[in-house]
Amino acid sequence: MEQTPAFAGLGCTDCGSVAPFDTVDGCPACGGRLEPTYEYDAVDPADLFGATAAGVGHWRFDALLPFPRTAAITAAEGSTPLVAADSLTEELGVGEVYIKDEGRNPTGTVYDRGMSLAVTAIAGHDDPEALEPLALASTGNSGQSAAAYAGRLGLRSYSFVPSRTAFSNKALINVHGGEMRVVGGRYPDAARAVDDQLATDYYSLQEFATPYRHEGAKTVAFELYADLGALPDVVFVPTSTGELIAGIATGFEELVEVGAVDETPTIVAVQPTSCGPIAAAFERGLDDPEPWAHPDTIIGELEVTDPAGGAEAVDALRRLDGEAVTVDDSDSLGSATTVARHEIVEMGPAGGAAAAGAWEWHEADAFSGDETVVLLNTESGAKSPDVLRSHLMGQGI
Ligand SMILES: [Zn+2]
Repeated sequence: MEQTPAFAGLGCTDCGSVAPFDTVDGCPACGGRLEPTYEYDAVDPADLFGATAAGVGHWRFDALLPFPRTAAITAAEGSTPLVAADSLTEELGVGEVYIKDEGRNPTGTVYDRGMSLAVTAIAGHDDPEALEPLALASTGNSGQSAAAYAGRLGLRSYSFVPSRTAFSNKALINVHGGEMRVVGGRYPDAARAVDDQLATDYYSLQEFATPYRHEGAKTVAFELYADLGALPDVVFVPTSTGELIAGIATGFEELVEVGAVDETPTIVAVQPTSCGPIAAAFERGLDDPEPWAHPDTIIGELEVTDPAGGAEAVDALRRLDGEAVTVDDSDSLGSATTVARHEIVEMGPAGGAAAAGAWEWHEADAFSGDETVVLLNTESGAKSPDVLRSHLMGQGI
C-alpha cells in the first residue's frame, strides 16, 4: 500500500509506539488507541493549498492524509459548498455566517469523509476479504455510508441500527448492498448487538475503533481555510460520537503545525439538552463523559448516550479553548426549517442544532459582532423530511 511522504504510521496515544497503517484492534504493544501521525516538517502549506492540491473532493489534501489520492476509495466526498447565509448574518448580528453543507456528500452526510479513509485503508490490506465482515453500530447516517463504501470494494458489511433510525437510512443501507440488523431500543442496544449477534470475528468500522474515521473529518477544517482564505472565528458543530469535534480540531491544529495559520478558531460542540454527555463533561470539568442515563431527543442522529470519542472531544475542546452548548429539540428543528425557508439549504435535524447553537450564543450576547461564523450542516434534510415537517405541523403550520 502506497503511503504519503508525511505519514509516519499509527502512533499509540498511550505508550507512544508506532504501528503500521493496517494494524487492527489497537496498539500491538499495549492495546491503546492508535492515531495517524505525520512529519509536519515535510509538509508545506502549498502542498495543501497550492496548484498541486487542485482537484475535486477532500483527497486533494492528501499531503496530510495517510494515503495518496491515487489509492483512494472515493466518490468525490468533500469539496462541499460553503454557503453564505445572509438572513442569518443579519439576524445574529455578526460579520458573516456560512453554512458548510455536508449534506452534499455522496450519501448525504459528513461521515463519508472518514468512511472513505477507513475503507481505503482496508483496500490496502494484503487480503481485504479476510477481514470480512465489516461491521458497526450506527444511528443511521454512518451505517448508510459504511454500506456504500464497503460495497465499492465488494465486501460484506453489517450495519446495526436502532429501530428509530430514519427509513431513508435503513432503505439505503440495503440499496448500497449492505446487510442491516434493526435492533429494538436505542443506540446503546444496537452497539451491544454487534458483539452479541455477530457469531464471527469482524472488522470494526466503529468510530475510534478504526483510526481513520475521525481522521477523515479533519478535512472539513482544511476546506474552510481553502474557501475563506483564512480560518473562521467560530465553528458550531453538532456533536454525538465526538468524532467530528476531535477530527475537525485536529485539522485546525495541523494548519498551525504546517505554518498556514497562527491560531485555531473557537470550536463549539452543540448537543441536545436531553442528550448532552460531552457538553456536560466539558461544563463539569470531567475528562471522560459519563453515560447519559435518560436520553429523550427527537433527533436520533444526536442520541448517542456513551460517545466512543467523548474523552477525545472534551480534550479537543479544552486544547482549542472551545465551548459547548446544549439546545432544545424544538429550537434545532425550528432552526433547520427556518434555514430551509430563507437560505435554500436543506439542513437535517442534526444540522439544525448547529444553527440553534448559534442562536443560543446570540441570545447570550456571546458574539462580539464582527465574527465569521460557520454552521456545520452534518446531514441532508432529505434524509428525514418527516421529522422537520412534523415540527411545523406541531406548530399549526
Ligand atoms: Zn501502546
